[in-house]
Amino acid sequence: MQDERAGADGLPTYADVARAAERIAGTAHRTPVLTSRTADAMTGAKLFFKAENLQRAGAFKFRGAYNAISALPEAVRARGVLSFSSGNHAQAIALASRLLGIPATIIMPADAPAAKVAATRGYGAEVVLYDRYSQDREALGREIAGPRGLTVIPPFNHPDVIAGQGTLAQELIETVGPLDVLVACLGGGGQLAGCALAAAELSPGCRVIGVEPEAGNDGQRSFHAGRVVTIPVPRTIADGAQSTALGDLTFAIIRARVAEIVTVSDAQLVETMRFFAGRMKLVAEPTGCLAAAAVLQGLVDVWDKRVGVVISGGNVDLATFARLTGEAA
Ligand SMILES: *Cc1c(COP(=O)(O)O)cnc(C)c1O
Repeated sequence: MQDERAGADGLPTYADVARAAERIAGTAHRTPVLTSRTADAMTGAKLFFKAENLQRAGAFKFRGAYNAISALPEAVRARGVLSFSSGNHAQAIALASRLLGIPATIIMPADAPAAKVAATRGYGAEVVLYDRYSQDREALGREIAGPRGLTVIPPFNHPDVIAGQGTLAQELIETVGPLDVLVACLGGGGQLAGCALAAAELSPGCRVIGVEPEAGNDGQRSFHAGRVVTIPVPRTIADGAQSTALGDLTFAIIRARVAEIVTVSDAQLVETMRFFAGRMKLVAEPTGCLAAAAVLQGLVDVWDKRVGVVISGGNVDLATFARLTGEAA
């Protein structure tokens, strides 16, 4: 049977973003769009910050997770889902599963921060710990998922995850009107690809830009090489963007619809966390500051433009937050 959901080439389209918006309506928060005269004065632009740090479970990932699980046929969904992640995707899957009344199994490294394991269990998920130095998590995942009939929901390379993430840009443009530039955070590319689909439909001509950590510039290299480039696990404080490669789906969309990919340093992320805390009274996690860091530090051309900026998450433990923002500039 033909899959009517995706486009002819298997990629999600704007229609999938629109359907995702219907599925998450009333469950995901319609997060606020914030402005700052100080930020506008610093950049000469009109900036619209989409505050996904205030999303449920603390990051935009809830959109894709809830959409992907909701889209499963009921009998499949009822058996449950599985994910391997120690970060925001795991918590998003755990919360979405609880809200949809299905079991979730999350495979996490045994040395993951205790607070993250506790948060994931707190949402009702079963956490299976593995030794990241000796065990292959994908093999372990298949071993557990197979007999139990669980559906694996990957963190970015999935049509319904991409479409779900795109709803954040759809809401932003619906709220503030057309944009000249939209700047998103880039890890595996779910957010950037989804936002690019929404922008192309709702704000034609908008330049969509992705921002990744300097140490993890696989996206930028892939963009220039015209093929997916894989790098070793990057060392960066942006722990939500430590993916080593884009997915085939996210890469195809990014290649076709994104104008530019730029990188920022960890020091620039810290500077941006300090700006959000000091000026806008916002807690943003390092990865959540990628897009804003590039804009506030003059790495993308925004002069005299209307610019959407994604603040993608706010999950940082307070000790780390205090240490990073308390450092001398
Ligand atoms: C996962 C994540 C990203 C990167 O998103 P991708 O869809 O993997 O590109 C950015 N910011 C935060 C806070 C995240 O959790």
